[in-house]
Amino acid sequence: MTTLDDSARRVDSDGARPRPGDLNTIDPSADGTTAVGVDTGRIERAVREILEAIGEDPERDGLRDTPARVARMYTETCAGLHEDPSRHLKVTFDAGHDEMIMVRDIPLYSMCEHHLVPFYGQAHVAYIPNVDGRVTGLSKVARLVEGFARRPQVQERLTTQVADEIEATLLPRGVLVVIEAEHLCMSMRGIRKPGASTVTSAVRGVFRDDVSARMEAMQFIESGRRR
Ligand SMILES: [Zn+2]
Repeated sequence: MTTLDDSARRVDSDGARPRPGDLNTIDPSADGTTAVGVDTGRIERAVREILEAIGEDPERDGLRDTPARVARMYTETCAGLHEDPSRHLKVTFDAGHDEMIMVRDIPLYSMCEHHLVPFYGQAHVAYIPNVDGRVTGLSKVARLVEGFARRPQVQERLTTQVADEIEATLLPRGVLVVIEAEHLCMSMRGIRKPGASTVTSAVRGVFRDDVSARMEAMQFIESGRRR
């Protein structure tokens, strides 16, 4: 059992988790290919330019539609830039529940802003509601993660943004966010360490102050790994 203090920002090796087949398990159509604010024509011209720059022929059969496909892909994978992810938490309800709530193993797909290649993995989000027991829907937590993930990102900021938004909106007694992800910029280029998993955490309130609360949350996350 490790506490968050020594696991935060740790890089370790674990090839067992997220599978590419998990792609888009959070409703890929939501906020999909019609996002405002994305200039698809400009993306198409840029992709064509890249293809020429690497010595390819953009007119050959397999590549002819690639610029348009890439433009649609970016529109979808960067849709979070043009929404306010906090809107997912606007609807709260009084569940009279003031114990820990954890949404574990939220599939996560984002794009490293340094290399524009994916990083993907899982997010685990726990919070302890305020005394008024105000909670949000479980699926809304996944939507929040997705909203911040669909844009050029770094894992550390993504983790912080999810924690900060839950803290600001639900005013919980504590928030704990752990994200584990594999970065393709580390796997397929550069240091080439396939399977290396980067773990980040953001801890607020009770989870920061109370070791036993933090241990309990981490045990929930750990138990999910043994299935
Ligand atoms: Zn990168």
